[in-house]
Amino acid sequence: MSVSPSPSPGIKASNLWRTYGANSTAVLALQGADLSVSRGEILAVTGPSGSGKTTLLNCLAGLDSANDGTIDVLGTNVHQLDYEEAVEWRRQNLAIVFQDSGLFPYLSAWENVEIALRLRGIDRSTRNSAATHALQRLGLGEHGDHRPAELSGGQQQRVAIARALACPPKVLIADEPTAQLDLQTSQLVLDELRHAVHTNDVTIIMTTHDPMAKARADRSVQLVDGRVFDKGTT
Ligand code: ADP
Ligand code: MG
Repeated sequence: MSVSPSPSPGIKASNLWRTYGANSTAVLALQGADLSVSRGEILAVTGPSGSGKTTLLNCLAGLDSANDGTIDVLGTNVHQLDYEEAVEWRRQNLAIVFQDSGLFPYLSAWENVEIALRLRGIDRSTRNSAATHALQRLGLGEHGDHRPAELSGGQQQRVAIARALACPPKVLIADEPTAQLDLQTSQLVLDELRHAVHTNDVTIIMTTHDPMAKARADRSVQLVDGRVFDKGTT
């Protein structure tokens, strides 16, 4: 009897609960959130401020722990990893673009991208060209020598995206990646995300308030009060 291979797992989160604080001051950030993203899919997560979007992404990345529920990313049960294993697993599989760009302030834009490649063990000549190429693709070819403080918020955000994509991850987790960008640069970033999916089969989950980002995703879901509502394909 032949057994057909199961589809490649992307991200599957089931019944996630996350409470901050206790008793009368407790905040229920996630209240039974369910979510899945197929391999090579771009999922947009929308929802009002405070609805739990960042908490959800942090849990998926293993940076925060849900109080209850399960998270499977690429076949790995994220919650069962200890600290060291989670660090290594993230290094091998994930890139994360935080809401604030998370760049090292004393490094130039180019160095910020290059150091991420170094941490992935990529050889010097490959990382030199990959860092330059990634910045160019995001329209930052002229800004490689600039430190974050010398760049606008939107430029910093694009450096963070260049850093995330310079060595394509298996999964990209991006928290409002176009929030500080004008229409044209938003298009550029969304083009780059799509390019990463096409060329490297990257699986992407991004939170967004941006109607264009939502429209360009394969699918969108809405988070309301820590629960996910699936609104079907966009
Ligand atoms: P969003 O990203 O959708 O704006 P968040 O996930 O940041 O929402 O926050 C969801 C809720 O959890 C909010 O009420 C927020 O104040 C609360 N929250 C998030 N992180 C923490 C934390 N570290 N400590 C206490 N409350 C938090
Ligand atoms: Mg947020």
